[in-house]
Amino acid sequence: MILDGKKVRLEVLKNLKEKLLELDRQLGLTVIQIGNDPASNTYVNQKAKMANELGFNFNHIKLDSNITEIEVLSLIDNLNNNELVDGILVQMPIPNHLNSKVIQNAINPLKDVDGLTDINMGKLVHNVDTLIPCTPEGIIELLNYYNINLSGKNITIIGRSDLVGKPLASLFTNYNATVTLCHSKTNNLKHYTSNADIIVAALGKPKFIKADDIKEGAVVIDVGINRLENGKLCGDVNFEEVKDKASYITPVPGGVGPMTVAMLAKNTYKAYILKKNT
Ligand code: NAP
Repeated sequence: MILDGKKVRLEVLKNLKEKLLELDRQLGLTVIQIGNDPASNTYVNQKAKMANELGFNFNHIKLDSNITEIEVLSLIDNLNNNELVDGILVQMPIPNHLNSKVIQNAINPLKDVDGLTDINMGKLVHNVDTLIPCTPEGIIELLNYYNINLSGKNITIIGRSDLVGKPLASLFTNYNATVTLCHSKTNNLKHYTSNADIIVAALGKPKFIKADDIKEGAVVIDVGINRLENGKLCGDVNFEEVKDKASYITPVPGGVGPMTVAMLAKNTYKAYILKKNT
């Protein structure tokens, strides 16, 4: 069965729209982009589209790639102090002369809609309700929507990035799953994938997971977004091979991607509520 991210996204946004009607003002979301990376342009456009659809006050600040760290930190400080800005996000990647950790941690954790500050990551590990990274949150929402139980399941995640693998491992653990977090130095990866009830592929290698790598009836979540030479997008899973062996599988595109953008909207609303309650 296909886990349909587009359908669930619509459901999430519909529920959110109802909540937004009860607010006394528009939600404010600011995206800071540094430089002109083509993939970042696409991702920021998707965020702008979603924000406009929901009636957010969306501000896209595009900065020159030569900007200094002090200038970026000063901008973030202004946004932190702006009552009408609920969410702040710095689109990655940023130029090498800037320290991404320093810049991300400058964002007020209550406005950190990407959930990437050390404070929010720490809270996630400690299972304290907070803003969490959008892709892991979207994966959980998708699994919950299809009533896929996580408690006691063996879950193998391939990829240990701060954006996907690490926060997802904490989230799954908080849901009482038994998690194996694999990476490029993992020996005998197939041992871990073929014993998993749920596999998350987040390594950025086209069609890496084959039918032979999974057990019959496994749930397969494909996070990868890879552009092939023919211009088409594909995931980290060989969808055609794996779909008949898996019980559930996410397509690329149309699986995890739409959920990620929906979770940004949800996090912006959550940031508003968290700030109001402090
Ligand atoms: P990343 O920062 O490049 O991390 C990749 C991870 O995969 C690393 O932990 C790396 O191991 C591991 N890895 C690489 N090759 C491997 C191999 N052969 N065997 C086992 N592990 C391997 O990637 P990311 O930012 O997490 O993104 C991963 C993919 O997801 C990309 O295709 C990206 O475009 C996509 N993505 C999609 C969404 C969405 O909304 N759908 C959101 C974010 C990312 P080491 O740590 O040892 O280097």
